[in-house]
Amino acid sequence: CGIVGYIGPRAAQQVVLDGLRRLEYRGYDSAGIAVVADGALTVRKRAGKLANLEKVLDESPLPDAHIGIGHTRWATHGQPNDVNAHPHTGATRRIALVHNGIIENFADLRLRIEADNHELTSETDTEIVAHLLELQVRSGIDLTTAMQRVCQQLEGAFTLVAIDNADPETVVAARRNSPLVVGLGDGENFLGSDVAAFIEFTREALELGQDQIVVMTREAVQVTDFAGSPVEARRFHVDWDL
Ligand code: GLU
Repeated sequence: CGIVGYIGPRAAQQVVLDGLRRLEYRGYDSAGIAVVADGALTVRKRAGKLANLEKVLDESPLPDAHIGIGHTRWATHGQPNDVNAHPHTGATRRIALVHNGIIENFADLRLRIEADNHELTSETDTEIVAHLLELQVRSGIDLTTAMQRVCQQLEGAFTLVAIDNADPETVVAARRNSPLVVGLGDGENFLGSDVAAFIEFTREALELGQDQIVVMTREAVQVTDFAGSPVEARRFHVDWDL
């Protein structure tokens, strides 16, 4: 339902939670966050309001991190509970993934994952994509190429945002039939399912087109199609107030 991504010098937890709060108006049933710090991925997620997630974060704080993703879920596949909340991770908990929308061919893809003896822990369509991404990166390719290959296998509507604990300097996202905007900062960059996610930090934005992937570091934003060819994204200035 709501998606936030961040890379830059600020505390990732704070930026992501602020963004999720600004996306609350869309409605949701669960919330979660993942960060990478010192080569390790940490995920916290809870059913219910953001306050439930914040309580967990108070009790067991996240490490200080400068890359993070967050999600508020509106369940389509699986109950609104802690396990089904996003972010989802792959078999070795290397990739964290948040997803808006529906993966229509998830049942076929699940057979492939299960044939590889990977156990799924949730009932979501999303977790299958996390496993597919993780299989790719574990075979030695980078997260960007992994996202291209996996998106080519997906049917349905999706905004996907992923981070990899082996590369704490890159956030990779993709979209088809589901919105995704990039917030352009100075030495930092943001992602959101809408501009509300980052409007308090920057008003310079890029709107991703259909079937596009964005690779975001602190200093650069690159947009390609699912085959990896560079494409132009529409740049705009957000001049309205929330
Ligand atoms: N289909 C996913 C799920 O049920 C994502 C739902 C959403 O857009 O929040 O977990």
